[in-house]
Amino acid sequence: MSSDSNNQNHTSLLGFVRQKLSSIEARNQRRALFDHTRSDGMQAVREGVGTIVSFTDNDYLGLSTHPAVIGAANAATAMYGAGAGASRLVTGNHPLYAELEAALASLKDTEDAVVFGSGYLANVGIIPTFVGPRDLIVADALIHTSIHAGVTLSRAAFKTFRHNDTADLEAILKAERHSYERVLIVVDGVYSMDGDIAPLHALGLVAEKYDCWLMSDDAHGVGVIGGGRGSAHACDAQGLVPLQMGTLSKAVGGYGGYLAASKDVCDLVRTRARSLIYTTALPPGVVAGALKALNIIKTDTDLCARPVRLAQYFCRALGLPAAQTPIVPVVIGDEKDALAASEALAKRGFLAWAFRPPTVPVGTSRLRFCFSATHTDQMVDDLITACRDLGIGDS
Ligand code: PMP
Repeated sequence: MSSDSNNQNHTSLLGFVRQKLSSIEARNQRRALFDHTRSDGMQAVREGVGTIVSFTDNDYLGLSTHPAVIGAANAATAMYGAGAGASRLVTGNHPLYAELEAALASLKDTEDAVVFGSGYLANVGIIPTFVGPRDLIVADALIHTSIHAGVTLSRAAFKTFRHNDTADLEAILKAERHSYERVLIVVDGVYSMDGDIAPLHALGLVAEKYDCWLMSDDAHGVGVIGGGRGSAHACDAQGLVPLQMGTLSKAVGGYGGYLAASKDVCDLVRTRARSLIYTTALPPGVVAGALKALNIIKTDTDLCARPVRLAQYFCRALGLPAAQTPIVPVVIGDEKDALAASEALAKRGFLAWAFRPPTVPVGTSRLRFCFSATHTDQMVDDLITACRDLGIGDS
């Protein structure tokens, strides 16, 4: 290709990009990345703000900075190297993986588990393994975006039911079930923008009645509800959710994703899921850190209970509906008002993220507070005082 036509290509790409950016900007949706350096537990140094206490992280148990977790990750890194070197199906499957998968299966009360590079990769790998173009996926209207990515890759037909509305799901299945070979129902166990829990027991019974498979995304449930075992345990629905996906990146404090399920289901995933086969395995240090973190989750029930206790205390103090999980949304409505509230809190030394469309529906921009076991009682009391002073949470 001549350098002239190369220049033309560059110019046309730049034209497209600038137009796209300015239309995003006009909708107030341009995003920026700020440097943010964790220093001590939930304290961090944030570019342009200074030292701040974060109520935004998903490190619900503070395990990312737990000395035993760091020690295990460091020891494995020193012994086995900083990277895995290849996909799990080639030479990247360090023996620590089997230990981690056994620990996950034991925590979730399933026969087996299979670990992916991240929760996002898990969702895009799991869903197309079980359904394809002749099948149907019915999902809660508020499922996480990574599930949408898995749905798209599966090429299955797709319908949503109203958030947490089992009757709406049943109405869809009554009308549609007979037209499809396989039907997968997908929900989040805990909804990341609302902090509520899916009614997994009732959903599981509907799935059984219509001969469908139920999959839950427990990214925000494990470690913090159901005695640390996640949403299926919290809902007494262990036997009713054959596909329990989750992440190692939030309460587990590291990085990675997984599916907890029966042995045969996990074996099919190991054989078929493209986002497991065609990507490099997690570094051994990350696997060892997660293994240590799961040990802590399994044995320290007080630690696992603390984030929800703090969230409930915060809600009681501000007259908000009782928290079910460590996530407390305070819906502000307008995008600019939500941003202004977040900035006002930052000036008082607290970070609470303002979530805006398209992440949440138009008109429901909100502050989201995430509580962690490493927040001190004093930090939460100070946050309550700041919220009261700023009128945040007043209905
Ligand atoms: N599912 C849900 C509900 C999530 O909130 C997230 C992370 N934001 C993911 C999946 C993706 O997990 P990971 O960060 O491990 O890719």
